[in-house]
Amino acid sequence: MQSRTVGILGGGQLGRMLAASASLLNIPVSILDVGPNTPAKQVAAHGVHIDGSFSDPDKVRELAAKVDVLTVEIEHVNVDVLEELQQAGTVDIHPSPTTIRIIQDKYRQKEHLLAHGLPVSPSIPIEPSVLAIQEAADRLGLPLMLKSKTLAYDGRGNFVLRELPQAEEALRALSNRPLYAEKWVKFIKEIAVMVVRTVEGEVTSYPVVETVHKENVCHLVFAPLRSADIGLSSRARAVAERAVQSLNGAGIFGVEMFLLDDGEILVNEIAPRPHNSGHYTIEACETSQYENHLRAILALPIGRTGLKVPSAAMLNILGASSDMAEVSNFAKFALSVPGASVHLYGKAECRKGRKMGHITLVANSDSELRIALRPLLEKLPGGSS
Ligand code: ATP
Ligand code: MG
Ligand code: MG
Repeated sequence: MQSRTVGILGGGQLGRMLAASASLLNIPVSILDVGPNTPAKQVAAHGVHIDGSFSDPDKVRELAAKVDVLTVEIEHVNVDVLEELQQAGTVDIHPSPTTIRIIQDKYRQKEHLLAHGLPVSPSIPIEPSVLAIQEAADRLGLPLMLKSKTLAYDGRGNFVLRELPQAEEALRALSNRPLYAEKWVKFIKEIAVMVVRTVEGEVTSYPVVETVHKENVCHLVFAPLRSADIGLSSRARAVAERAVQSLNGAGIFGVEMFLLDDGEILVNEIAPRPHNSGHYTIEACETSQYENHLRAILALPIGRTGLKVPSAAMLNILGASSDMAEVSNFAKFALSVPGASVHLYGKAECRKGRKMGHITLVANSDSELRIALRPLLEKLPGGSS
């Protein structure tokens, strides 16, 4: 297939899986990231890559000059230069810079969702002062979720204020960050839906999954979501689709949501790119999130999103220490588990809490899945609980 070249801002694991998927369709990719050997560049060795930062305007321009379509594997990129390139009209950019700008400021994103009638937890912007935190706590109650508006990931940028005297500690922890306060959500589950949006703005969603976080980082994903509430999945998919319809540009989006005990659904946040909660789609769905992202941004036909298996799970492999052997030994063990597919991201160094790889499990039933999952959880570096 003759394909236009895709430039990816960011070369981590999401870029790596995107590049691996691109190779199946013989889509050429060029990657911009600091190191010459980042996870994504390793699997696209034939591509012409750029060493540099996705925050550096010159490097982004250099990448843009080499490719037909620009996309991102991370939202914390330089949007000013993307807007400049969009105006110049020399390269397609997906998702659109406007979308990335809205999403990279989590408070602005909340305002956008609210303005489009989507359900979100009440939030207020705050100055970095004890008084402002107290006022926010008066209005929204305790515990109170304090969040950095920008540059947040894996909960880095969040502070749970359980009592007012913690306000100073919160300011120290979130120092120099623009802040907002979010009403605490007593969710019973976290759920997520991947949504693919075409250049024409049509959306298609993947099955709803349950996501389990540990210390703010995704730990496990179960697909599909199980619930006694038979309408829940279609309600959650409808919310996620509406959220993505409110944005511009093509590609895959990850919509993180909270499920409340009365069945209400709130949108937590949207990722304008492939998402950890969608890794399972590689083995478990008819078309992976990565392939559908490429198809969407290249205006190719979108692939079907349904599950190919009755039950699936994804287990993140986080570093427990600097010891890479713990990760490789675990990965080797996982190869012996029926239904397990092992993904290692090729990161040069292992660190506590760093995403080093993941396992996807597929099974013919939930009980078969649980049986296969148990030994993996027992042997997971750093333990599972
Ligand atoms: P990501 O890596 O997903 O981008 P992030 O740093 O942007 O993470 P959030 O998604 O805002 O962080 O929050 C991380 C986790 O904190 C959520 O998955 C959820 O478990 C918890 N959380 C976030 N907001 C709230 C809230 N308002 N009430 C209760 N828990 C929350
Ligand atoms: Mg986030
Ligand atoms: Mg999140």
